[in-house]
Amino acid sequence: MPFNLLKYGFGDKYYAAEEHFTPRETKLKSSYDVVIIGGGGHAAAIAYYLTKEHGINDIAILEKGYLGGGNTARNTAVLRANYLTEEGITFYRDSMRLYHNLSDEFGYNILWENRGQLTLAHSDGAIRSFRWRAEMNKEFGVQSEVIDLKEIKELVPLLRVSDDVRFPILAGLWHKDGGTARHDAVVWGFAKGACERGAEIHQLTEVTGLDVEGDKVVSVKTNRGDIKCGKVIQAVAGNSSDVARMAGIDLPIHTFPLQAMVTQPYKPLISPLVSSPHLHVYIQQTSRGEMVIGGGSDPYPLYSTRSSLELKEALSAATIELFPFFKELNILRQWAGITDMTPDYSPIMGRSPLSNYYLDAGWGTWGFKATPISGKTMAELIATDKVPDLMAPFALSRFDDFTQVSEAGATAASH
Ligand SMILES: Cc1cc2nc3c(=O)[nH]c(=O)nc-3n(C[C@H](O)[C@H](O)[C@H](O)COP(=O)(O)OP(=O)(O)OC[C@H]3O[C@@H](n4cnc5c(N)ncnc54)[C@H](O)[C@@H]3O)c2cc1C
Repeated sequence: MPFNLLKYGFGDKYYAAEEHFTPRETKLKSSYDVVIIGGGGHAAAIAYYLTKEHGINDIAILEKGYLGGGNTARNTAVLRANYLTEEGITFYRDSMRLYHNLSDEFGYNILWENRGQLTLAHSDGAIRSFRWRAEMNKEFGVQSEVIDLKEIKELVPLLRVSDDVRFPILAGLWHKDGGTARHDAVVWGFAKGACERGAEIHQLTEVTGLDVEGDKVVSVKTNRGDIKCGKVIQAVAGNSSDVARMAGIDLPIHTFPLQAMVTQPYKPLISPLVSSPHLHVYIQQTSRGEMVIGGGSDPYPLYSTRSSLELKEALSAATIELFPFFKELNILRQWAGITDMTPDYSPIMGRSPLSNYYLDAGWGTWGFKATPISGKTMAELIATDKVPDLMAPFALSRFDDFTQVSEAGATAASH
């Protein structure tokens, strides 16, 4: 931290604090070239890159609540690229590269911090899979290595590395590129940039149906009237199946709540992001000092954002096993989002069976890190009608031709 103080204090680069962006209320027009359903980070990023890189400005984002109030507001902001498959690693790697420049692009600080991410192994099987991941990561330009207990202790001195626990830590997967950023700042920056170039964001505007004629969506029905549309994109995270069904499309998705909780702020104690898939827990200390704690999805499909005592107990027990001093901390609040899980833990992006309807779905527990790259690649597809190479592996058709991209081994409780 003192180094950063000096760097920014004496450097010529000054980042202002983030600006809270509230979309201006405008009249809903009767038609748009592009309609984006959902007003989260992904929708804002798609509109941003459409306006910025492709000169497409006649865009309406339709959001049933308020901008960025869905999973974008509820996620724990783990940013990493240490996935398992070539397709996953290259996709998230390029997203991380875009994150590096977002403060410059937006002209304010998105609180991007390159802290590194440490995943813990508590079994020989986990060490084997970490070795595999580390080699795949390095092959595709992502920093990742298996480290021993001594190195773990140096990175996170307060971690309990001992034999007298239920599941002793045996090794770690150290991903130096990992980090975090402030979620609201990301969605506000994309939204502001898109709106400055002509895109409109309509809050409290719920899509209630889609009129399909032949292989096209001809109009979008909303609680504020119908809109004619050129191209339509759905980017509705936890509601992907419901909205796709309006277009007559069945997605291979099951929907689960995902909870998290946060403590009061404390002095800086843990620098890297730490996760234990074995204990189903991950922890990161925010730049404000709070400990953000999350785990795996709830065990049953449900559309609900209630919090449960069960989860709080499980996360607390696992956290205290890793960091005994956590028993002294106070939990401030707990919350949940709704996550759309695909069978292979990869997103569904690109074309749909309808010729002017596009999917940005299946982001499960891992989609915040993909916000910039999904925006960029979806915008390229809409503008050029060519599927970008990075996006091609995530087509819906992979479930028919058995070309799934299995990231099950690299997702778990690391998000
Ligand atoms: C607790 C939790 C922790 C997470 N942690 C991480 C993490 O650490 N790292 C990571 O990368 N990802 C994480 N995720 C996942 C991540 O939050 C999501 O994948 C990502 O935010 C999805 O962004 P989005 O813009 O697609 O969706 P959202 O931000 O959910 O936006 C979709 C919007 O669509 C709107 N909508 C839905 N239906 C309609 C309709 N019919 N009409 C109009 N609008 C509609 C919703 O109101 C919502 O605002 C986490 C998720 C949760 C819940």
